[in-house]
Amino acid sequence: MKINTNYDNIQNSYLFVEIANRVKKYTASNPSADLIKLGIGDVTRPLAPCVVEAGIKAVKEMGVSSTFRGYSPDSQGYDFLRKAISDYYALMGVKVGMEEIHVSDGAKSDCGNIVDLFDKNNTVLIPDPVYPVYLDSNIMSGRKIIFCKATEETNFAPLPDKSVDCDIIYLCAPNNPTGAVFTTNELKCWVDYANEKGAVIIFDAAYEAFVSQPDVPRSIFAIDGARTCAIELCSFSKTAGFTGTRCGYTVVPNELMGGKLAKMWARRQSTKFNGTSYIQQRMAESAYSPEGIKQCRENIDAYRQNARLISEALTEMGIYHTGGVNSPYVWLKCGMDSWDFFDKLLTEANVVGTPGSGFGSCGEGYFRLTAFNTLEKTKEAIERIKKIF
Ligand code: PLP
Repeated sequence: MKINTNYDNIQNSYLFVEIANRVKKYTASNPSADLIKLGIGDVTRPLAPCVVEAGIKAVKEMGVSSTFRGYSPDSQGYDFLRKAISDYYALMGVKVGMEEIHVSDGAKSDCGNIVDLFDKNNTVLIPDPVYPVYLDSNIMSGRKIIFCKATEETNFAPLPDKSVDCDIIYLCAPNNPTGAVFTTNELKCWVDYANEKGAVIIFDAAYEAFVSQPDVPRSIFAIDGARTCAIELCSFSKTAGFTGTRCGYTVVPNELMGGKLAKMWARRQSTKFNGTSYIQQRMAESAYSPEGIKQCRENIDAYRQNARLISEALTEMGIYHTGGVNSPYVWLKCGMDSWDFFDKLLTEANVVGTPGSGFGSCGEGYFRLTAFNTLEKTKEAIERIKKIF
């Protein structure tokens, strides 16, 4: 037996473990410290009432023989949910057919699994800093990786370098961790570049619901030419608070390699995945109903307000940052080693954030704060941060 030695090349995912260790150590010697957590990218507000109702109704259906459901007839998702997702795209002015939508248990699984469709010898272009799953899943399958450096010069939204050749491009906008976004023209540059190179863009739109500026596309399919070069990953996690409920979807357009990739993804999923539960799919459907969108928006607006307050305070203090407008993340320049800043914030302000270096080497010297706490705690954290700068 030989193991997949590519796993030896993955860095230990020590970021959140190390944060937890440092916090634990600090609270052990300072038991009365009132810590405010602006670190982890997980939602905190409860599910929308109509989503909960849809879940209860679905559970009750499962308890009655006439409405009980076993395996779903199609592992790509029930038609009712695929229709709701297609209608949701239509609200953005984007046409995505039901058959192009593949429902899953979340964007992370799709993000890790999509690599199954591509040859090992492809070169992969990954932004730095970014959500670490793109990097790790490609290291696991042994692909050549090159980085697209995101820096202050481009406000962490870099454009393609035409002299660089690659086959698979990851883009995440609004970005985790930087909160940076692409305007329509900027995203069009990436789409044109991918079409010219014959590359595929894997576009992670997990934070699309946070976009508030009109010239920032929420879907890559809002861009002309994207249907021949892009796959979009999306999720109910941040849009509807489903991080613990689990539901996401991937759109593989029919024009991509003449429909070959859509067929391959459907085949991959039906071979290795037996579908998301009926109950989750009914809850997700409800999140995209007119009432669901309204109720989920109230939660998003609350996070957005927190992000805006953090961003405004940093602007007032003259601290360079990105995000906070179209994103629950604020990415600030800490002017020192990211971990040293983590310790300073923890010990002097009792605020927990995330060191930027955990998201890639270009994240060194930067720091991520998140909007997923309450308004009161966020305001209190801002006051404390002001005192240490
Ligand atoms: N994509 C990005 C950019 C994320 O930040 C996250 C979670 O934090 C995910 C995907 C995972 O989403 P899901 O909860 O749907 O698996």
